[in-house]
Amino acid sequence: MPKGVSCSVANCSFWGQGNQCNADQIMIDIDSHAHMDYKSEFAGDLQENHKDSAVESGSTCCHTFKPKE
Ligand code: SF4
Repeated sequence: MPKGVSCSVANCSFWGQGNQCNADQIMIDIDSHAHMDYKSEFAGDLQENHKDSAVESGSTCCHTFKPKE
């Protein structure tokens, strides 16, 4: 689990009390790639090799988000 990841997205299935993220690992990308499909056959290559540049913290997003059912 990533240590010290504080997250306010309470409707995520990995979210825990005290704004703790309980995922084993998380995937972050820039907002302009918010709809990129990391579940495709190229996902492994995308996660390991693709690099981007964010202008500010507000332009990044978590792809590990999974809505609570
Ligand atoms: S997986 Fe992402 S959205 Fe979900 S609790 Fe962790 S940091 Fe927040």
